[in-house]
Amino acid sequence: MSETLIDALDLIAPGDLVLYHGSITDHHGLYIVTLCQCTPCRFDDRRGAADARYRLINPWDSECALHHVRRESITRSAVCG
Ligand SMILES: [Zn+2]
Repeated sequence: MSETLIDALDLIAPGDLVLYHGSITDHHGLYIVTLCQCTPCRFDDRRGAADARYRLINPWDSECALHHVRRESITRSAVCG
């Protein structure tokens, strides 16, 4: 994952706090974002796909995480400045 690609994704970088507002309404809320490292998502990265996928970690419950989350389902939280 190049820094150039992270820039192109509107400043969402691993470790950022993001707001999830995607299709799984039960899981709407704040998460710590990392890149999804599963095989299909890494394959998309290598193709330089615009729709890179993310993994979202619940900061209060490490057992609860969302995988393969699309960019349009998350917004970088203003809390991070
Ligand atoms: Zn994935």
